[in-house]
Order: sequence, then structure tokens, then C-alpha cells
Amino acid sequence: MTDITGQMGPNFIRNIVDEELAAKKHETVITRFPPEPNGYLHIGHAKSICLNFGLAAHYNGRCHLRFDDTNPVKEEQEYIDAIKADLQWLGFDWGEHEYYASDYFETLYGYAERLIEKGLAYVCELTAEQTREYRGTLTEPGKPSPYRERPVTENLDLLRRMRAGEFEDGSRVLRAKIDMASPNLNLRDPVLYRILHAPHHRTGDAWNIYPMYDFAHGQSDSIEGITHSICTLEFEDHRPLYDWFCEAIGIYHPRQIEFARLNLTYTVMSKRRLLELVTEGHVNGWDDPRMPTLSGMRRRGFTAQAVRTFCDRIGVGKSDSVIDMSVFEDCVREDLDGKTPRAMGVLRPLKVTITNYPKDQEEEFVAPCHPKQPEMGTRTIPFCREIYVDRDDFMEDPPKKFFRLGPGREVRLRYGYIIRCDEVIKDATGDVVELRCSYDPETGGGTLPEGRKKVKGIIHWVSARHGLPVEVRVYDRLFNAANPSGDKQTDYRDHLNPESLEILSDCLVEPSLADAQPGTAFQFERLGYFCVDAATTADRTVFNRVVTLRDTWAKLSGQ
Ligand code: ATP
Ligand code: MG
Repeated sequence: MTDITGQMGPNFIRNIVDEELAAKKHETVITRFPPEPNGYLHIGHAKSICLNFGLAAHYNGRCHLRFDDTNPVKEEQEYIDAIKADLQWLGFDWGEHEYYASDYFETLYGYAERLIEKGLAYVCELTAEQTREYRGTLTEPGKPSPYRERPVTENLDLLRRMRAGEFEDGSRVLRAKIDMASPNLNLRDPVLYRILHAPHHRTGDAWNIYPMYDFAHGQSDSIEGITHSICTLEFEDHRPLYDWFCEAIGIYHPRQIEFARLNLTYTVMSKRRLLELVTEGHVNGWDDPRMPTLSGMRRRGFTAQAVRTFCDRIGVGKSDSVIDMSVFEDCVREDLDGKTPRAMGVLRPLKVTITNYPKDQEEEFVAPCHPKQPEMGTRTIPFCREIYVDRDDFMEDPPKKFFRLGPGREVRLRYGYIIRCDEVIKDATGDVVELRCSYDPETGGGTLPEGRKKVKGIIHWVSARHGLPVEVRVYDRLFNAANPSGDKQTDYRDHLNPESLEILSDCLVEPSLADAQPGTAFQFERLGYFCVDAATTADRTVFNRVVTLRDTWAKLSGQ
């Protein structure tokens, strides 16, 4: 779709804009990203952000950030701040173009009076239930409200008194007078204003009535001179209303274009559900690394570049589809592979004693920080008589093709010596607690003397004396159903994966990671990508597993 320099691939929206520009319809392309500040941004929003900011960059135009803050009950400053931080992290800049629908409340109110004066709006006193009855259904036309033919002066008087706070919540609404028989239910005299005695996070107690989303959104686009109002497909049925408002009020008329929203497997993306996950404690906050929120992804160690690449790869279309989570994870791997330093870490330590290595001896191996980027430099890896390897790299009775440790078997320690497992030590319950091995002194630092048989397996390890104890949080998918909200019989919460977080508290990493700051990522060789978590303190380093090296859901392989 785009990168931040404005290299946007072709898509159907670009075709529309190209034609309009050729016909000299606009001088500058102006788009907007219009979040409602009632939750944190998620990966679905990123698709809309990349599209709107990407179009603006591609055409040398601009993209506004507009908070659609028309519902005072659910909106908070915390969300505004979080949304701005996420946009900046993604790499997009709205400059001075930060707007709030609430800044237009007075103008919008003026539009409402204008509609009344034109005989195109009226104050209705039907109850919510009656309004539903009068609206009709998809197959039956609606009936006109008994208040539909009120005179203009009476409507104006009532609306002003609604504004002044004279009436109870829910006792009256202002409705557009359009067409109660329209096949499009949105045109059956939709509500424009409702009474709500609630303070707004920006306008305080100034208003006792608030505009409905449909009445605020398009008019805000118009006020800002937006050329292309890009929204998701479910607003297609609202477009006639969008158009009607602009024409009826007599204001500049932006063009609404709909595109397919992003759906991803193994997660949910409705803000209501994400809020429930947070408030009911199924996750540890909006930035829990298992959440599809941008703040969760950032904390997990997913990169902004990976999110942008992903949005580019999935493209912009007109038909709804579900994208597999592995497509996103591949974008993360691709981005991290080239720029992430390598390190060795042991997640489930098993002690190995090198019996023929002198007790007091120590040495250091030098290893590249990245196999393909020499400019990233080298690191030193200390070695001594006691080391730890991962439990998964030992089997007491291994099959022939297991090229790791087993009784009598040889492996190469990454960057170090070839060792042979001579003895397996168990505790009283029969669990393996230590391996006694011997090393071949001729094979240090990855060398192989002439005539020496090569070994197939290379395993990672950490020196027991020098290794740094750390905690590693290993994440799996938050849900164990591909579409957790997919069926009516079950609640999406029934599909929460009880094993989505595993905390490994006895891990060890090589000492070169001692000063790694939160947010820094490493590839633990053979294991995956890991990122220092924000919960890291001076005494304890915490890592998040960002992603495995390969798609482990496709197939769990030997190495
Ligand atoms: P809700 O979950 O209540 O439906 P929302 O996701 O629509 O809310 P908004 O804050 O209104 O939340 O979204 C801001 C913009 O992001 C809108 O223009 C919306 O179309 C777009 N957007 C939201 N979800 C997706 C998605 N999954 N894919 C693409 N765009 C999305
Ligand atoms: Mg919305």
C-alpha cells in the first residue's frame, strides 16, 4: 500500500483519485484518519492509517487526524494520547492538522437549525421503542412520526430548549425529514441530535445535546475540505445519507469511498471486545503483548516497519476477507532478520559439565553479531567447565535423525568446541538434571582439524559462570479458534487460549546482553526473536518472545 516516503502501489482508490486529478477536480488531495477516542488503536486501524496517510503522501497532499468525539460517555483523554503515540510510532505525521469533531459542535448545531428552517428536520417525541416500530423493516416501509409535520418555529423553539437543558435524556430527538418509505433504512428520518446530560471530555458542560455520528462525520469532513472520505464497507449503506446531508445543508461535498476492513485470524478487533478483555482481566492491559493493539504489538517487539509492510502486502480491495496471522508474523521476521543482533539464550536450562576441561580455566570465543552484516561487529562469548544447554536439545533415547545430544552422541557448541555426552545424571525421581560431557580441545572456536569427523548438530549454550539470569515471556495466540467471534452459540471468551502466556523465570542469556534497554530486540539463535520488555528493572531483565524463527504452527521441525 505505502511506505512513509509515499511509494504507494496501485489500488482502486488510487485509480479514482487519478481520474479526478486528470479532470482537475481537486488541487490538493486531503484525506483524514478519524478515530473515535473510545479505545486503543489496533492492527485494523493501521490498515486505514497506512491507506489515508499513504494516499496523502503519494499525491503530495495531506492527511488530517480527526477525533470523532461525539459520544461523551465512552471517550477519554487517555485514548486520545494513546492514539497519537501509536500514530507517531507507526511513522505518520499529521503536522498541525489535529482536529476534533467537538470543535465543530457550534457549526453542526447551526446546520441543524438550517435544516429545520428548510423544513428538512423536526423534533420527535416518540419513545425509542415507538421509533423502532415506526421505522418498519427491510421488507415493510416505515410510518411517519406524528411529530413530522410540526411547524418550523415550534421545531426551532424545541431544539433550542433541548440545547438549553430543559428536557430529560431520551425524551426528544431531532430527526431529518427524508423518506420513511426508503428501501435504505438509514434514510428513514435518521436521528441527528439526542439529549444527553453528560459532560464531554473537551466541551465540559457546554452541551446537553450531542450530534449522532452520521450527522457529525460527513459535515466534519466538509468543514475540513476533505476530498476523499475513506471508510470501511459497512458504511456503504450510509453513503446516501452522507450525500443527502451535504446537499440539504448546502455545503462542500467530499466523496465517500468504502474499502474492505482487515480481519485477522486468532484474534478479535472490535473495540468493545478489546475493552472487555482489558477490564475483565483476560489480559494485562491494552498493551499486553498478546493484544492486536498497536501498543501491545510495540511492547511485544513487533516493528512499525513490519506493520507497514503487512498493510502494503494485504492491499486495498472491496471484498471482505480474513488474513492469516502468519502473514503478519512473516512480515515481522523479514524485518527483524536483517537488523537484529544475534545472541545465545537458554530457555529451559539443563546443566552440562565438561569433565575434561580444567576447573579454573576460562576462555572467550568471538562471534559475529550478525551473520550477514559485518558492520554490526562482534561479541565475545565466555566459556568454562559448566555450561547450560536447552533441555529440548537432549534426548535420552533419541531417534537416528535427532542431531543433538544423547548418550554417546557428539554435537558442536555454537562458536565453540565439539562435545560428547558421556554420562546422564538423574535425580531421585528419575529426571535428568545434568549431562557429563567431554570436549575435543582441537575443535575450539568452530575449527575442525584434518581427519576429524564433522558433526551434524550445532546447539546453543550459555556459560553457567557468566550467563545472565533473565525471565522470558513466551506468547502464543490469544485465542485457539481461528475466528473466535465467528459462531453465535459460543462467546468469543470461550475460545481464549489458556496457554497464551508462559512465563519462564530461570532462563539464561549470554552476558553481552547485560545492558540491553527495553525495546531492544535480539535473535536468540535457533529460538526466535526476543525483545526486552518494559517491565525490566535494574535487578531483573524481562524478555518477550516476539516470534519464532519459522511458522511453528505450520510444522514443528527438529531444529
Ligand atoms: P468499532 O470497533 O466500534 O466498530 P472502529 O474500529 O470503527 O470502532 P473507529 O475509531 O471509528 O473505530 O475507527 C477509525 C477508523 O479506522 C475508521 O475510519 C474505520 O473505518 C477504520 N477501521 C477500524 N477498524 C478497521 C479495520 N479492521 N480495518 C480497516 N479499517 C478499520
Ligand atoms: Mg467506527
